[in-house]
Amino acid sequence: MKIRFRLTLWYFSITLAIVLVFSLGTYWGMRSLLFRAIDGELNLLADSIERTYDPFFNEFVDLMISPGSANRYLEYYVIVYNASGKPVFVSPMTQVISLDIPLSHDSVRTTYTINAQLPEKVPFFRAGNGGKVAFRAISRPVYYENQQIGQVIVGVPIERFNQSLEKLLWVLLAGIGLTGLLLGGGGYFLTRQMLNPIHKITEKADQISHSNLGERITVHHKEDELGQLSIVLNNLLERLQKAFDSQQQFMADAAHELKTPLAILRAHWEGELNNPGLPLEMKEKLVGDIETISRLNHLINNLLMLTQTEAPDSNLDLAPLELDKLLREVISDADILARARNQEILIVEMSPAVVRGDRGRLYQLFFNLVDNASKYTAEGGKIWVSLHLEDRWVLAEIRDNGPGIPAEDLPHIFKRFYRVKKDRARKTGGSGLGLAICQLITESHGGVIGVESTIGAGSTFRVKLPVVSVDS
Ligand code: ADP
Repeated sequence: MKIRFRLTLWYFSITLAIVLVFSLGTYWGMRSLLFRAIDGELNLLADSIERTYDPFFNEFVDLMISPGSANRYLEYYVIVYNASGKPVFVSPMTQVISLDIPLSHDSVRTTYTINAQLPEKVPFFRAGNGGKVAFRAISRPVYYENQQIGQVIVGVPIERFNQSLEKLLWVLLAGIGLTGLLLGGGGYFLTRQMLNPIHKITEKADQISHSNLGERITVHHKEDELGQLSIVLNNLLERLQKAFDSQQQFMADAAHELKTPLAILRAHWEGELNNPGLPLEMKEKLVGDIETISRLNHLINNLLMLTQTEAPDSNLDLAPLELDKLLREVISDADILARARNQEILIVEMSPAVVRGDRGRLYQLFFNLVDNASKYTAEGGKIWVSLHLEDRWVLAEIRDNGPGIPAEDLPHIFKRFYRVKKDRARKTGGSGLGLAICQLITESHGGVIGVESTIGAGSTFRVKLPVVSVDS
């Protein structure tokens, strides 16, 4: 999972957990405060009933005989029992609803939250779901001078509070949902903003290759961690560029220095060859030496080509060119060599395609591939060439029915000086630089090169290059 999503998820989960704990805490806190207040009120009511006890009559006299006592405690559910457990006072509400609260037999107060069913629709009550009314009630003994004188059950409908609490819960849940949305969106936006510079650094670093080693990552804020990372990467690029430049320079210098003495040696040997007094045996040796010098010369030219194509300022002479025409030219030149080996080069398809490229380099790229196909295919073999368009790309395919390349060699054949073992032994005259040059030329034109091969069936080399649209 991307860091961006991981960070957002962490941020989202932690903050949401905090909000959740805070909201639920608020809800439960509010609920218990409210219930505590109600319980306090019920207890005060029980206390006031306790005080109506008259020891002389051994009854709750005031409660029973004062005028209108039946209409007392209209909003409360009250049942008062005397010491012998007989109800001596009930409030009007007990006629409408029954809470079935047991008497408390120990000295502690017992608190209940009950959902009582209303038998019918009673205008006085605000009923909840299914005609039920929530009650909060206490059941406790009452005392006179430490002597238990009876029991009271006092209750009050709390539907109103319950509904308000429910609303509060919904508001809090909606708040949590909204906060979650904002946190998710905001967290994603924030992490994206924070990680954007890393994304840019990665993109830039990924674009830098041997051809643009001089480019650097833009440093926006030197003092922050990302600025430091960019500076470190830039310093690394600087060192790489220096090492690369000196290696390039060394290769170019060495190749140049070797070219002149080789040319002198070759001229000398060729001169000697014309000497009529030289014995035939000696002449044969000289011919062998001249061939070796030619191979060395070819190698040096390849090395020079590599250094020139690879250099950051390789100065490709880019211009729109008709690739199909260039490929036909390559085929006609390579055909001379192929015919000498009794081979046939067949054109399968040749779609017109215009690319922006360096004529000389592209010629060398395709000549190397067709020449390899001919060089490694036995006498009488066949080579098929095709060029066709695929979207904004042109795909060139050079296929042969040669010996094929072993699977273990395939990943390496574009490396410099890499040659398949048996071809080293066969002394085909190659240096293992041809395909490395092909890859470099293809990539410097923004293309890709690949190979597919089956032992005994042949090899197919594919080059994909970006086409130039006709109107651009
Ligand atoms: P070389 O100068 O040796 O031809 P290349 O870089 O052109 O060097 O090729 C590397 C190796 O890939 C060669 O040694 C050869 O073994 C193998 N190779 C290239 N093209 C073909 C092909 N068409 N068929 C079989 N093997 C090939």
